[in-house]
Amino acid sequence: MAWTSSGSSNEELIDNMLRNGILGKVVGDVVDGDKSKTEGASDRIVRAMKKVDRANYVRDKRDAYEDSPQTIGHGATISAPHMHAYAASHLLPYLLPGGRVLDVGSGSGYLSAVLYHLIEDPQGQKPSSSDSDTELKPLVIGIEHVSELTDWSISNLKRDGLGEALEKGQIEMVTGDGRLGYPSNAPYDAIHVGAAAPELPQALVEQLAPGGRIFIPIGTYKQNIYHIDKDESGKITQTEVMGVRYVPLTDRKSQEMH
Ligand code: SAH
Repeated sequence: MAWTSSGSSNEELIDNMLRNGILGKVVGDVVDGDKSKTEGASDRIVRAMKKVDRANYVRDKRDAYEDSPQTIGHGATISAPHMHAYAASHLLPYLLPGGRVLDVGSGSGYLSAVLYHLIEDPQGQKPSSSDSDTELKPLVIGIEHVSELTDWSISNLKRDGLGEALEKGQIEMVTGDGRLGYPSNAPYDAIHVGAAAPELPQALVEQLAPGGRIFIPIGTYKQNIYHIDKDESGKITQTEVMGVRYVPLTDRKSQEMH
């Protein structure tokens, strides 16, 4: 239950989610209960989530440190922290230094910030081809179709200490229709979709790098999270992961009538 994980600070919220087993369960489900993998993965997620103060990404600061979703206006919500941890753990093996990530429906910017910290964390596993002398430029693109939310997410990220990353182009928040992806920075090693698509947008599949993964809720009344994996030869595998309830991936007019 949400209240069992609430805290009086961001650090306390994450510590409580860890202590009461929510983070371990979320990550453990993803790595099939392998204990050593669970610890390593949840450590990475905890470190990243502690760097992102949720109070900078919500409208009502009094509920910032609750493990529950919160409305952010325009028919959108910031997801509960355990859902962000869940999404991040499904993409974790693809979030490596030098990687490129697309966050579709970036809303408050919270998850874009977590994804950024996961990519730039030096303790994250390095890709085998990486050369430690070359400067790796992490790149997270957040795409959101409500321009007011894009602007707000940029101010949230700045307040959260990510102004420099924005200036250097390591994080970019853009307004646009996420169903079309963001071709100018493709291909992406990981694509997170934060709203439910009625069907898999082909543009996202095209913009996925070989060896990469899309995490996407698909469905209207009944929704499921899917992994869309592209192997090195370009072959696509679609795996159903679990049932969920997300806001729809749609056009702005339909969203605001919701
Ligand atoms: N991860 C975000 C989730 C926000 S809710 C957060 O936790 O803050 C889903 C978001 O998807 C909303 O902000 C909504 O405006 C956006 N969205 C819905 N359809 C979209 C589309 N076609 N293109 C881009 N963004 C879209």
